Amino acid sequence: MDLSLSCYACGATATLADGPRCDCGEPYWVRTEPSGFDWPATPERSLWRYRDLLPDVDPSGLAAGAGGTPLVRAPRLDDDVGATVHVKYEGANPTGTFKDRGSAVGVAAAAETGDDAVGTVSHGNMARSMAAHAASAGVDCLVLVPADVPTERLSLLARYDPTILRVDGDYGRLYRESLRIGSEAGVRFVNSDAPLRVAGQGTTALEIAESFAPDTPDAVVLPVSSGGHASGVWKAFRDLSTAGVLDRVPRLYFVQAAACAPIAEAWGRGDDVVEPVEAGETVAYSIANADPPSGNRVLAAASETEGGVLAVDDDAILEARRALASSAGLFVESACATALAGARRLGDRGDLVTDDDVVLVATGTGFTEREVDAPGVDAETVPLSALAETVTRVV
Ligand SMILES: *Cc1c(COP(=O)(O)O)cnc(C)c1O
Ligand SMILES: [Zn+2]
Repeated sequence: MDLSLSCYACGATATLADGPRCDCGEPYWVRTEPSGFDWPATPERSLWRYRDLLPDVDPSGLAAGAGGTPLVRAPRLDDDVGATVHVKYEGANPTGTFKDRGSAVGVAAAAETGDDAVGTVSHGNMARSMAAHAASAGVDCLVLVPADVPTERLSLLARYDPTILRVDGDYGRLYRESLRIGSEAGVRFVNSDAPLRVAGQGTTALEIAESFAPDTPDAVVLPVSSGGHASGVWKAFRDLSTAGVLDRVPRLYFVQAAACAPIAEAWGRGDDVVEPVEAGETVAYSIANADPPSGNRVLAAASETEGGVLAVDDDAILEARRALASSAGLFVESACATALAGARRLGDRGDLVTDDDVVLVATGTGFTEREVDAPGVDAETVPLSALAETVTRVV
């Protein structure tokens, strides 16, 4: 496939074969031609609705089912945040996270090019998503996991029957090494900020924008780790503004867990380069990338859209997770609850105001994480004969 890439930072262009990063050190994204784009009248509910802004690949199987997730109002969170709250529920994707958007495009491209195998460096949401899409497309999937991951944490992944290799060594280095190993062995790694993945993941923003059209939301709040999703979201809003279908790009706010917040720390220092940190433990382990490969691009997105990057602690994350379930009916992974915890902070400090339409991106379902912060269940047992009077008493 002859895909054209460009660098957001220096403007250099390249092709997919040149690899995912520019000589200046920053990651490429896929070049699009948004001028002339208008909201599609295609009947597709999936992300392929935006084909005109996507790499030219044909989805088959599961790929055709990625995206098209609901945007729901959460009126009971309005007072809590101090704005008009909407939630983009990415848990509705086939494997329960937005990663399916990137896997759909990446695996479809691999299948179309005739690659024998796809690969990923993950043992969480990304690995499950890649394995599921590969299973559906009939492509082998190689998953590299750290040697010390407890086997029970791999059992959900194993359902999709990928080839799992435990890697004994510096797992952090694998992000770069995997590309070299992959090209030698004929395995296409579609890592967290690979251009094809970023292109697919930008469709989160296209759907949000189309839901609001002809209006524009004021702000979008997104959990961030490697910065791949954030990059796609920023790029997609830019494309829409270039196409003239958005009057402005919403303010983009990115949230990290305080225990591992390299991008938020760089933002706080006023830097435009992210320095790696020593990661601490956090309930939001899905967003604990201590050396985010697209971190600098996230800083650029926050500053160009007049948004920001912030960090929230585990207590605030767990409280927000409970509130999303009990006040919005959405049970999400701890990593995504950072969006609400972050929005509350933004409201407190006046960065969000009552009239603002804010979209919290709930990046993944909580059903993969049922044991975390599980509540005690208080339910009395009543004889059937006493049920009517008991119901009257309790409701
Ligand atoms: C991967 C992931 C993120 C972070 O996305 P990046 O593209 O790595 O920044 C956020 N939330 C969930 C649930 C994820 O699985
Ligand atoms: Zn560059």
